[in-house]
Amino acid sequence: MPQASKPPQIVIVGAGTAGLNLATRLSRRLGHAGKAEITLVDENLSHMWKPSLHEFAAGTKGFDEEISLLEHSHRNEYNFRLGRFTGIDREKRLVELQAVNDPSNRPLAPKRALPYDILVLAIGSRSNDFGTPGVAENCMMLDTPAQAKRLQAELLNLFLRFQTGALGTTEKLELTIIGAGATGVELAAELREAAGQFARNGIHKVRRPDAVTIRLIEAAPRVLSALPETISAKVARHLRELHIDV
Ligand SMILES: Cc1cc2nc3c(=O)[nH]c(=O)nc-3n(C[C@H](O)[C@H](O)[C@H](O)COP(=O)(O)OP(=O)(O)OC[C@H]3O[C@@H](n4cnc5c(N)ncnc54)[C@H](O)[C@@H]3O)c2cc1C
Repeated sequence: MPQASKPPQIVIVGAGTAGLNLATRLSRRLGHAGKAEITLVDENLSHMWKPSLHEFAAGTKGFDEEISLLEHSHRNEYNFRLGRFTGIDREKRLVELQAVNDPSNRPLAPKRALPYDILVLAIGSRSNDFGTPGVAENCMMLDTPAQAKRLQAELLNLFLRFQTGALGTTEKLELTIIGAGATGVELAAELREAAGQFARNGIHKVRRPDAVTIRLIEAAPRVLSALPETISAKVARHLRELHIDV
């Protein structure tokens, strides 16, 4: 008897808005009819709408909008694989994945390669530190849900230790954000909001108006330099009203 031919393997790397939507739609259109097998790969187990990462990080929005990729793939009938994409073997048509560990360095997914017939790379963009010495070791980036969670935990910890006096004689908290693009500007405003929330929730030391300095550092001559000057000017005015030093 002739062997039924296997449906083509469509592998999508990156479960951001682009990858997640594509996997869902291809699954509905081709996967359900057995015309293709759809596999989505990401180095994280969950998806969050990237423009909200700064709100998650500041703690002004809960993580309840996080989408579990295991649950989403099950509900929408495509495959999900956890792995960090590192390269492609074009001759053998393999996507190479590095192992993924949890924050305590316990292995979650091994190093492996996935076969593909059609490959879509939807890995988005990442912050660029321009090779500036010290940045990689000392700064927190805000590109992924895991980084947003870490930043939120660090902030809460910092404010609580400030209140208990565990930071010694420090009378002021100084928060500095590098980059006044959309993420930096919105994060600065959210941090001011978060400081107000902390003050209302028992962290009395931050009630003093000058207790928390929020500083935004930008190399370009204005904030949001990719947008028209009128918008930059309005945003800069609003940042000043929020006592954010640019
Ligand atoms: C502050 C801010 C505000 C914004 N506001 C808006 C708005 O109002 N409206 C709007 O339409 N757009 C807005 N955007 C832009 C929007 O966020 C992006 O256009 C969108 O997120 C791009 O989607 P993407 O899927 O291409 O990439 P991303 O969202 O960056 O997703 C990439 C995915 O790939 C994964 N990935 C990356 N590298 C690897 C790897 N090596 N291995 C495995 N997985 C990997 C990541 O984990 C992630 O899940 C905003 C962006 C920001 C930062």
